[in-house]
Amino acid sequence: VRNIAIIGAGQSGLQLACGLLEKNYNVTVYSERTPAEIKSGFVSSSQCMFHTPLEYERAIGLNMWDETCPIVEGLSLSLVAPGTSEKLIGWEALFDNPARSIDQRVKIPAWIDECVKRGGQMIYDHVNVAALENLVDKYDLVVIASGRGDVSELFKRDTVRSYYDKPQRSLALVYVHGMEPRDSFSAIDFSIAPGIGEFFSLPAQTLSGDCHIWLFEGYFGGPMDKWPSRDNPDACYAYGLDILKTYFPDQARLCKDTRLTDSKGVLIGRISPMVKHPIGTLKSGALVYGIGDSVVLNDPISGQGANNASRAAHHNLLAIIAHGDKAFDRAWMQATFEGFYKQVDVGIRWTNSVLEQPPAFRLRLLSAAAHIPDLAKRIANNFNNPSNYDPWWFDETEADKLLACYLDR
Ligand SMILES: Cc1cc2nc3c(=O)[nH]c(=O)nc-3n(C[C@H](O)[C@H](O)[C@H](O)COP(=O)(O)OP(=O)(O)OC[C@H]3O[C@@H](n4cnc5c(N)ncnc54)[C@H](O)[C@@H]3O)c2cc1C
Repeated sequence: VRNIAIIGAGQSGLQLACGLLEKNYNVTVYSERTPAEIKSGFVSSSQCMFHTPLEYERAIGLNMWDETCPIVEGLSLSLVAPGTSEKLIGWEALFDNPARSIDQRVKIPAWIDECVKRGGQMIYDHVNVAALENLVDKYDLVVIASGRGDVSELFKRDTVRSYYDKPQRSLALVYVHGMEPRDSFSAIDFSIAPGIGEFFSLPAQTLSGDCHIWLFEGYFGGPMDKWPSRDNPDACYAYGLDILKTYFPDQARLCKDTRLTDSKGVLIGRISPMVKHPIGTLKSGALVYGIGDSVVLNDPISGQGANNASRAAHHNLLAIIAHGDKAFDRAWMQATFEGFYKQVDVGIRWTNSVLEQPPAFRLRLLSAAAHIPDLAKRIANNFNNPSNYDPWWFDETEADKLLACYLDR
């Protein structure tokens, strides 16, 4: 029986742990927070999971909210003229299969329980780099799934694969009850105010039941970058509502009766998107291996982080099982990461591109989608598999070719 340690009880760490436990591995998960602390803490994400990552969760019995979580049926996209409420672009499209968002304060404590039920050992402790030296002797493999926690500093930034070297947006989450449903179907309602920022809302399940999550992505120094401290949640809510009234009036119209879900239903922050080298070398020369946000960190603008964490857990689960009794050496770590990276490379490039001013050909594509439902559907469904954005999202000739195909039909 192989012994695996996982540092961090989040989407990637617990999904991997539960998958390994199903296959009778000995698994120990180190979590710096207890379930009670997670439940009573601040929200951490909008965590909208698309179909394939949800299927990875289902395959190992972690789909505990299929009956209760409101479904996200599609995507709506609006580009609003600067300084007005005039829509320059506006369309909506259904996903082939619904997405779902479960507040991680609900999901993670339930998965910790499940991990224990399956025979996993939970140790509640903050593991620092020095402590890792003791763990590498005890376990066949030490997986770092600590998200943005300090222990992930062991992994060095990959300067070739990292596109940005600093945060690109001022981020804020506000969880609300009472937002009116959209007219047609439930959706990630994505709105862009050029030069100001982006906003999306989506239905979700939180501690107190159904809710909506607001995600704000503001340009630094602009009007969406003046958030109060999260310790003043009412002020954060009021500021968020003000942004909606000023820049996203269509969204504000659905918010006549909204209220904050709870005093911890806000998050203010920023993320420096980057790709890291997946192998950490300790002073002793021993190796640890990173998955999830600890090594691939995206801005949440495209909603891929938790999905990538799920993809990583699934990919690494298969790779660990396939490796049998052999040593988890540097070659295995690098090859396994490369296999994962191939799956998410386009999605990372796509996410980075969404943070930039769109070139004219991409605006042509997005505008055309308002009149070509199949194109709108294709753009929306690629959130589940961003690899399908290649090549036409990135290349003018390919974009025009794709448009011509649709127009010839
Ligand atoms: C504002 C915002 C909105 C987002 N929206 C979306 C979205 O809509 N869709 C999406 O897919 N993704 C979204 N994400 C990203 C997503 O939440 C993350 O990518 C995902 O949770 C990463 O999972 P993970 O397992 O790598 O790490 P995490 O979920 O961060 O889990 C890591 C865990 O490890 C623990 N830990 C850290 N260090 C240690 C240590 N030294 N010892 C022990 N425990 C430790 C932490 O407390 C944490 O519980 C969003 C993120 C933000 C900030």
